Amino acid sequence: MAQLSDDCFAFGGELTPLQDALAALHDRTVPIVSVSTVSLPDAAGRFLAEDIVAPMDVPPHANSAVDGYAVYFDDLLSDAETRLPVTGRAAAGHPLPHPARRGAATRIFTGAAMPSGDGDSGPDTVMMQEDCRLDGDTVSIQPGIKMGANRRAAGEDIRQGETVLTTGQRLRPQEIGVAASLGHTTLNVYDPLRVAVFSSGDELRDPDTARLSPGSIFDSNRFMLIAALSRLGCIVTDLGIIPDRVDIIRNALAAAALDHDLVITSGGMSTGEEDHIKAAVEAQGSLHFWRLAIKPGRPVALGQINTPRGPVPVAGLPGNPGAAIVTFLTVARPLILRLSGAANTAPVSYRVRSGFEHRKKISRREFVRARIENGSDGGPVAHKNGRSGAGVLSSLVGADGLVILPEDLTVLEPGNMVDFLPFTEVMP
Ligand code: AMP
Ligand code: MG
Repeated sequence: MAQLSDDCFAFGGELTPLQDALAALHDRTVPIVSVSTVSLPDAAGRFLAEDIVAPMDVPPHANSAVDGYAVYFDDLLSDAETRLPVTGRAAAGHPLPHPARRGAATRIFTGAAMPSGDGDSGPDTVMMQEDCRLDGDTVSIQPGIKMGANRRAAGEDIRQGETVLTTGQRLRPQEIGVAASLGHTTLNVYDPLRVAVFSSGDELRDPDTARLSPGSIFDSNRFMLIAALSRLGCIVTDLGIIPDRVDIIRNALAAAALDHDLVITSGGMSTGEEDHIKAAVEAQGSLHFWRLAIKPGRPVALGQINTPRGPVPVAGLPGNPGAAIVTFLTVARPLILRLSGAANTAPVSYRVRSGFEHRKKISRREFVRARIENGSDGGPVAHKNGRSGAGVLSSLVGADGLVILPEDLTVLEPGNMVDFLPFTEVMP
């Protein structure tokens, strides 16, 4: 299991472009989870911790793609019907038990190994049964078929020695299938990241309408973040709400760091309040405010708590729910994926037409909640969805994703092309 270096999140005070912050995060962090060998069904959704090189061809033998008759192409007349005796049978899992001789056809079924030949490579072509006529033990074949037709070569899918899966790849159903096709029963995968989550704020209450006293609000971030972390494959511990008291936050952090790989908090980050989380982390490690040139998103705090088993990273997200989710998706998500062993932490966005007008400040990246509708030409058009304040969460509900407006843009007109990041891409 790898460890982070001491104070790896130290970062300057200037407003930093998101791209530079993400590059720095990537350079300074490593996968910190251990590796386990698990069965194929258990490997689904995990990150692969090894490269898989094919020990064999897939399929291992040439085989028929159809039900029909395997023949030597050389035996076929090019301009007249050919009549051949049928002298053997090959079905899937039941190869022809003897070499196939020239001047004869073998009844063959889909997936059956192509018969071997007598001193040569054997039949090379398969006639589909629909294109043949059978009279007793003789098959009549019409001219016009191509050499090698309906014959699947050994290694058509995977060649022996090919690297088919690589370290850090998320194991989707198709990757699990490929591993099985090579005879793997287990895979080495990264263990899930164990993440502790708490909310910080004297005004926060657990959802329960009976308990909302004047001046208090229900804690939404914690439930949103726990759901998002689970989607990323993390094992999440809910540490509840922690009041704005340095000593209590400090103890909670210290306890969480003992048996987790990452601690995520939200709230307690505004000016004036900053010191709660900062002082609590700094009493036992280090914390740095990353001032990112993004909107929404207050500074994101990144640091580490020292424990006997090494430094444990801490990520402090803004309290405003709109800012909490955007900073989670843009900063915490790549960090979590990196610590979890993922090779690729950058989500894919798509160019779509904008259906709205927008003005923004130069030199910062803005994320606008958007829903996709089909335009007059049938293509996707991004429309702004609801209000966009950092404190507004409900407009994310009808949104399909975020429009990403780049640093250098100041005026967006309807019809301009924009980058659209679907939520399905970042919270699968
Ligand atoms: P803070 O970062 O603690 O100054 O919080 C900024 C704003 O976000 C305040 O209006 C808080 O009440 C609100 N807030 C903080 N934490 C949460 C939370 N867990 N759920 C909902 N709102 C929150
Ligand atoms: Mg607060």
